[in-house]
Parts: sequence; C-alpha cells; structure tokens
Amino acid sequence: MIYFDSKASTLIHPKVAESVFGLYQKQLANPHSTHYLGQKAVSYLDIARKTISNHFGVKFNEIIFTSGATESNNIAIQGVVRNYFKYNSYAEIIVSPIEHSSVSNTIKELSLEFQDRLKVNVLSIDNKGVINSQEVKNLLTKDTILVSVMHINNEVGTIQPVKEVGKVIKKYREEKNTIYPYFHSDGAQAVGQLKFNLNHLNLDLYSVSSHKLYGPKGIGALFIREKTKIQALSFGGGQEYSLRSGTVSPELVYGLKVAIDLLNEEDYQVKLIEITELRDYLRENLLKNPKVKLNGELGFIDYNTINISVEGKTSEELVIAFDLQGIAISAGSACHSGSIEMSEIVYQVTKSEERANSCIRISLSIYNTKEEVDKFLEIVKQIF
Ligand code: PMP
Repeated sequence: MIYFDSKASTLIHPKVAESVFGLYQKQLANPHSTHYLGQKAVSYLDIARKTISNHFGVKFNEIIFTSGATESNNIAIQGVVRNYFKYNSYAEIIVSPIEHSSVSNTIKELSLEFQDRLKVNVLSIDNKGVINSQEVKNLLTKDTILVSVMHINNEVGTIQPVKEVGKVIKKYREEKNTIYPYFHSDGAQAVGQLKFNLNHLNLDLYSVSSHKLYGPKGIGALFIREKTKIQALSFGGGQEYSLRSGTVSPELVYGLKVAIDLLNEEDYQVKLIEITELRDYLRENLLKNPKVKLNGELGFIDYNTINISVEGKTSEELVIAFDLQGIAISAGSACHSGSIEMSEIVYQVTKSEERANSCIRISLSIYNTKEEVDKFLEIVKQIF
C-alpha cells in the first residue's frame, strides 16, 4: 500500500515505537502514585514535559497532556468561554472559517448553549486560503475574549498568518490595558513542519497532536500560558494542574517526547526538504492535466500537501479508485467518521461547489519515495 495520507495520521516512527514498547515492557506503575514505582513512572512525564516545553520555548508548567488536539481544542475554547461566563454575561470570539471540526463544532455547541450571550465573528478567507490579520484588528471589541486561528490548515495545507494575528492582539491588549482576548491556535498540522517559539507568536493557548508528527495516537498536549483564566471541563483526581483529570499514560507521553526529539534532528530537517521537493514534482506533474486545479495558492501551502479538484469526478469516486489500486489518499479531513461530504474548507477557499465536491488531498511523509510518486502518476493516467 502506498500511504499518501500523512495529514490524517503519520505512521509511527520506528524509534518512537521502540521507546513506547520498551516502556510497556518496563511495567510502569500509575504516575500519580506516591510509591517508588509511581515516582519512576512520573519521571517519564517530567522528562517529556521538559522536552516539549523547551521545544516550544515555554515554561515546564505551561504544558498539559491530553488525548490529542481535539481534547486540547475543547479545553482551550470551552475552558476560556465557560470560565468567563461564570462572572460575565456577554462575550465575543473571533474564529477563522477553515477550522478543524474540533474547533468549529465546539464553537457551534457553545453558540447553541449560550445563544445571545455569545457572539461569534467568523473571519473571511481570500482566494489563497488565508485569513487577514487586519480583519481581526477590525473585529476586536472590549467584549472579545478569544481569537482562534489554526496554524496550518488540515485540508488545503495553507499556513495562516498566526504571527501577524499575535502582534495585533498583543498591541490591542497593551493599548487597552486588558488581559483579553486570549489567542489560541490549533497546531495539530504545524508542529511536524515548522519550528517556532510560542512566545514569539504571542499565543496563550496552543494545541498539539502526537499522531501528526510520527508519534503515537491518543496523546497530545496543550500549551496554556501561566495565569490564563480557564476552567477544567472534567473533574476527578486533579491531574495536569487540575485541568485534565485522569491517569496520564507515561508510555504515550514519552512517545510524544521521542517524536518531538526527532523533529530537532538534522536528518529530519533534510527529510522535510526532500518531501517538499517530491511534493513539488508530484504537483507539477498532476497540474499538466487540464482537468486538475490546485486548491490554495503556491507560496501559502505547507511542505507536504497537495489539494486538487478533478473536473468531472467526485471526491468519493477518486478516493475509492485510488484505494482499489492500493493508494491511500483522502478527500479532506479524516475526522468525519469515514463519510465523504462536500469539503466546506475547499468551498471556503475556492467558492466553488464543484471544486469542493471533486477534491482530493495527497499528503506526503518522510517515508515516501520517488518510486511511489511515479507509480501514483502512472495510476493517475488511468483514473483521470
Ligand atoms: N486539528 C487539526 C487541524 C487536525 O488536522 C486534527 C486531526 N485531523 C485535529 C485537530 C484532531 O486531532 P486529534 O486526532 O489529535 O484529536
């Protein structure tokens, strides 16, 4: 099988798998137990928290572990909004129109629950698939408590101007002498591709998913800047600074740590350049076919993604046709329980229903080879 669906999940890196299996064989105890074996288990959490906080240039206690970016997004957004509504009756939030469902549906549910107490301002997107930080500035009011803009889009791969938005928010807060709005970004697709310091981006909340960066599934992290006013969504033993109760898996957390270490190896940076070259070669060849249109604009797309629409085909037909030939690609986000619907994000970017109904996403990983790409291009000739 040729796997071109790394935006849905990157297959686990052998070094990560080895370290996770190694820890399972060590039979670690509950990291929240006080005895020696519990302390041994907690030492793995500590090492991981230190590595991850260093990687992002933030403090040790500003990272909490979660089950993945979905949970991180929920804690960040619901946590800020619910906390604010304990003491205030009205709030506004600003969000991009191309968020992953774990952000957009969370906000939808909050809007239903709080109705006229919560105003949601949805940003517009240009034909490059990018939001405009100036629009964020224009929408800020004294009631804005949260701005949420994803770092890299999961379907089209567009990199959003998070740094510019961060600057706008910082300036606003300084001028108005206020702690709000907080700035959240869903970094699920960005951490494996970009190196950055969260403080330089002026973020207050940042969501991380391990299985998008060659780590294990079912583990993620959330950066929460110290002193951020946020409340927990579930209650129990008070783990993770009382923000995410429940026993944390030292094995999975350590797997995330090893995956983060890999990102910092020189070899990984070289691989990233190689994937981009391979991706560019594939894209240029695909675009030779006049039926193929690129979604998003060159120069604004990340390192491993190609999202194209194919005239006269549906996304479903295409995904199935490739699957039958042993190639895994996707129609967009993998998080719609396997069903293929029109891509709302491609629609937002292209403003064309036809394009949104005929799109596919090809996302490469560090394991892909030129031979696989050439085989894919051969199969493409039979399919469209
Ligand atoms: N945000 C984005 C941008 C994603 O691509 C995904 C995964 N498709 C998620 C959030 C959800 O991540 P997880 O699977 O770790 O919950």
